[in-house]
Amino acid sequence: MSGTTVGELHADLEGRPIHVTDLEYEKYLEESRIREILNNPDAVLLVVDYQFDFINSSNAKNLDGINLNVAGGDKCYGLLKRLQKDFGADRVFYTADWHPENSQTFAVNADVSLFASWEKDSVTMTGWPVHCVQGTPGAEIAIPVLNPDHVIRKGTNPDMECYSGCKDLQGVPPIFHVGIHAGKTLIEVLKGRPVVVTGLAEDYCVSSTLRDLVGSDQIPTVYFSPNLSSAVDPDNDAGRIVPGNFQDSVDAVES
Ligand SMILES: [Zn+2]
Repeated sequence: MSGTTVGELHADLEGRPIHVTDLEYEKYLEESRIREILNNPDAVLLVVDYQFDFINSSNAKNLDGINLNVAGGDKCYGLLKRLQKDFGADRVFYTADWHPENSQTFAVNADVSLFASWEKDSVTMTGWPVHCVQGTPGAEIAIPVLNPDHVIRKGTNPDMECYSGCKDLQGVPPIFHVGIHAGKTLIEVLKGRPVVVTGLAEDYCVSSTLRDLVGSDQIPTVYFSPNLSSAVDPDNDAGRIVPGNFQDSVDAVES
């Protein structure tokens, strides 16, 4: 539906049965390692691409008529909202997919079929439905952003796919565009800090970001919580953060 506003998208999410009670939240803190991580003042929460276009299927129709919604993408909404409050504005960071209209990541612009793989400048691109176009409601982050200076935008180069918050498929890093971190990369800003990686989608932008954080000698520990993420394709074990993938390098938040 065209003309959907951020307020309507937000009201739609708030109206879904995806909130957590105090009891459920306490249970999560008790049964996971999150409380221990919260108590480490150096640890940060990284929320990857938690944007309406990846969550909302009821309102925001894209140009292709197909949403890039992640099944169950809304299920971590309540928990993420609670958790980011406890981490506090200084310790929460966000990545945001932020594509120009003419982005070659969109199947319609690349003139390929939806979800088709194609080669460009020695990398494999995928023909995605239109999503997260700069300045559109669907590109807004779906939970309250506690500190706008902590948002790093990626995918801004129309010619190159960028899943990871650390670098695009050709190795070019996105940079913070406003505030005290302007001009710096994600790894430069998070240097030396344990990072809990959350958000969407587990099998693309979350796993790519996580892989780059793990591969950097600047980040001491990388945590992952299945309760704070969802996959585009739950059967995509090769892309997911499951035992066997990243097993040795990622600390699980849940046992
Ligand atoms: Zn994208």
